[in-house]
Amino acid sequence: MRSYCKICGKEFEGENNRKFCAVCVDLIRVKREKAKEKHERTEHCIICGAKIEIPRFNKFTCSDECSSLLNSVYQINRRRRRRKKNAKIGQSNLDQRVKEANESGLTYGYYMAMKRGQGND
Ligand SMILES: [Zn+2]
Ligand SMILES: [Zn+2]
Repeated sequence: MRSYCKICGKEFEGENNRKFCAVCVDLIRVKREKAKEKHERTEHCIICGAKIEIPRFNKFTCSDECSSLLNSVYQINRRRRRRKKNAKIGQSNLDQRVKEANESGLTYGYYMAMKRGQGND
């Protein structure tokens, strides 16, 4: 499905009714992270670039319209992060299994040694 990015206006291949192209989603995430790091009031809207009339902390947009666009971008990023987290859990499960195998291997070796020791008696 073809859509037009609500931010840059470019045509892109949209999925699940997405409103923005991948470039804008990444750009806005970076802009917002930088703005947060600096602990400064954002003076220009990170969506459309217009001057923000009354800059405030944790305010990154010039209008309600841009603010709701920003919220939609947050949701895309949140979904992405969740997917990454799940991938990580899968990895640690594998680590856990390897660890358990090693531990039971040690226990088995110890058990055999004990058995041998008893046999000598
Ligand atoms: Zn775009
Ligand atoms: Zn704006």
